[in-house]
Amino acid sequence: MRTMNILAIGAHPDDIELGCGGLLLKSARNGHNVFMYTLTRGSAAGDPVQRTNEQIESAKFIGADMLWIDNFEDTKLSLNVELINRIEHIIKRCQADVIYTHPLIDTHHDHRAVVEATLEAGRSIPNILSYEMPVTKDFKPQIYYDVSDVIDDKIELLSIFSSQGHKMFLTSNATRGLAQYRALQSRLDPTITSVESFEALKLGLGTSLQLLTTSNENKSKPKTTEIPLPDEIIECNYVSEESYLDSSKCRTKNQITSMLEQR
Ligand SMILES: [Zn+2]
Repeated sequence: MRTMNILAIGAHPDDIELGCGGLLLKSARNGHNVFMYTLTRGSAAGDPVQRTNEQIESAKFIGADMLWIDNFEDTKLSLNVELINRIEHIIKRCQADVIYTHPLIDTHHDHRAVVEATLEAGRSIPNILSYEMPVTKDFKPQIYYDVSDVIDDKIELLSIFSSQGHKMFLTSNATRGLAQYRALQSRLDPTITSVESFEALKLGLGTSLQLLTTSNENKSKPKTTEIPLPDEIIECNYVSEESYLDSSKCRTKNQITSMLEQR
């Protein structure tokens, strides 16, 4: 099996998980390299320290290789050169083969800014797909992915975001209901009961109709530490407990909490 470098990008803590948490859980379990990048710390809808730590716990639960949490201001994202450059930095850092992000039609301007910036930053990436959240409107999926075997794990994953637990879209019914609806609509197979669906913004197919990668070689883990990381970004490396604890850029949960509280 070809190992893919998968990068999921979201404006706020919990966006990625709502949109493609099931796909990421399965991808990590199947040996793909999973990277996550959240642009804000969600201060408009809760305590940013708590929300950052929820994001850190969530990426660990998923089995992600790396998580980056940026420090753009919540509800203030707009399409500009800074946002594009920052996303491009992360794309290069993990040598992404496929990117999952927000859809182009979205009622939240932060989400629209992220997908538009990602399309420009990821212009050389062969595959970019949009994920669907329970609140997404006017979503027209072309791609369906079976998450029947991990839907319970996805619900457990979303429960990590306890600071947002009062929101209706984070209830298990919203996630299960959407997944069941898409499974029925997909008509893939009667035994498939839960599906995450996606819109294709860009897909590159090889001769065997497999997704193209950025390189033809079967990659080893990218050497992400070779590129200097902007100071604003928190980086969590889950691959190696040693590097997670030792590297100055890879902090433990408690170190991150105290660092955030000092700001
Ligand atoms: Zn969001």
